[in-house]
Amino acid sequence: MSDLAPMNVAVRAGRVRDRFDELGVDALAVTNLTNVRWLTGFTGSNAAVLLTGDSLTLFTDGRYGDQAPVQLEEAGVDGEVIIGTDVVAGLDRAADANRLGLEADNITWAQQQRLAKDDRELVAVSGELVELRSVKDEGELSRIRAAAAITDATLAEVAPTLAARPTERDVALALDTGMRSRGATGPAYETIVASGPNGALPHARPTDRTIEPGDLVVIDVGALVDGYRSDMTRTYIVGEPTAEQLRQLEVVRESQAAGAAVVAAGVAARDVDAACRAVIADAGWEDRFTHGTGHGVGLDIHEQPRLNKITKDVLAAGQLVTGEPGVYLPGEGGVRWEDLLHVTGDGAESLSGTPKDPVIPI
Ligand code: ZN
Ligand code: ZN
Repeated sequence: MSDLAPMNVAVRAGRVRDRFDELGVDALAVTNLTNVRWLTGFTGSNAAVLLTGDSLTLFTDGRYGDQAPVQLEEAGVDGEVIIGTDVVAGLDRAADANRLGLEADNITWAQQQRLAKDDRELVAVSGELVELRSVKDEGELSRIRAAAAITDATLAEVAPTLAARPTERDVALALDTGMRSRGATGPAYETIVASGPNGALPHARPTDRTIEPGDLVVIDVGALVDGYRSDMTRTYIVGEPTAEQLRQLEVVRESQAAGAAVVAAGVAARDVDAACRAVIADAGWEDRFTHGTGHGVGLDIHEQPRLNKITKDVLAAGQLVTGEPGVYLPGEGGVRWEDLLHVTGDGAESLSGTPKDPVIPI
């Protein structure tokens, strides 16, 4: 992992402050832990940040008394660390802002009540930081690229073993171990290996089912590198496909390509979903494509933007999004192809290098 580009965490607080006027706040309490990490480099499991016009304070507990100041310094972040058992009490004491922004999607009713005061206006802030976070800088992109490359190398090694009648669990374990041995911290999410009828469940968990000749096998796998994730799905067929399996594989491949062809900065994410869905509808399987087309990927596996029927998100250069249509036939099997796409000014670059080459000879 020595070729990773340096991170530039220190500029991020300024980018959030630039939005204060628009948000109508004098200070922002950041309680989403992924946003805390993005803003400060701190990776602990309990923290909040108070960001004012000219200061940044991180509240965390005694377990992180040594780690927190070191991580902020390593990230080049100019901020104070306050250790206490109750981070919300810390926020309350420190916040003398008249208009305090709270992350509405990441604060409990009880916490909001504790922060309410007669001379303090609480302002609901929703989605600002996840929107800023969706556009990746060079350091972030290099980590996601490394995660994608580790996934490709591991799948190239493991896919041929599907011919040897392993269980789904065997395959998932081999993938997770292979990614770790190539330098990943671990899998980016729980690896999916879903064979035969199990593949008709889009988010199946690996079971003890033995993978048999004639099975479609959906493998959804990604690696975690320095906090950043990759995400890819390939579908395999063990031995010769039937005509119907071949059609299912082809239709979803065309759907995936049609969606990827639309991806570019300035495009409505809904239009990518529509392009994928049209191909599957033409094949008569509209009601068998039962989820959205994709999502942003970064520090979280599912983040902004969302690519589905109802989203209002617009794609921006520098975002990482997946395109992952699927067709799921109950009792038979599923097919999903998922690429991780880097949105550029005039198109998209796929970071998923594994060929869409489904047949595993037996
Ligand atoms: Zn996936
Ligand atoms: Zn995905």
